[in-house]
Amino acid sequence: MPSPVGHAIAGLAGFFLIRPHFKKRQKLPLLGWAVFVANSPDLDMIPGLIFAGDPAMFHRQATHSITAAIVVVLLTVIGLRLNKICDRKTWVVWIAFLYFSHIFLDLLVTDTIPPAGVQALWPFTSDYFISPVTIFAGFDYNNPNLSFLRTIFSWNNFFTVLREIAILAPVAYLCKREL
Ligand SMILES: [Zn+2]
Repeated sequence: MPSPVGHAIAGLAGFFLIRPHFKKRQKLPLLGWAVFVANSPDLDMIPGLIFAGDPAMFHRQATHSITAAIVVVLLTVIGLRLNKICDRKTWVVWIAFLYFSHIFLDLLVTDTIPPAGVQALWPFTSDYFISPVTIFAGFDYNNPNLSFLRTIFSWNNFFTVLREIAILAPVAYLCKREL
């Protein structure tokens, strides 16, 4: 999976696409939401980390499925209706774009340890799916020889993040220039 930095750049791209429609004071919260939603499927690491010290326990499963993306979109629709926010279609498409960007990017990550990929079609199948062509290196969260923090801040992860920036920053830049 890409690192939080890679997913945050996808969030930044989403922010660039929608920001012209917002006032200056609304832009920072909007950016925060974009980065959060683009990273949110990886919240599945928290239960395993808390209860078993293993962030991989529930990782890349239900929250990385199309079903979860649909649930998030439906919750967005309900939330927008309750708050009577206008321009609902734009919001729904935007949230869907951000959430799906996470699943899409995770499908493009080289994964050498089976099961590779994500449970994209959960709960219909617990099979893992990965793109036949991968462009990102895996960001390591779980090295049994190192502590969680030392794993996160390893040289391997540093170069993984650099690669993500090299690939995704131009995409975000193009999203900025388009509008
Ligand atoms: Zn993920």
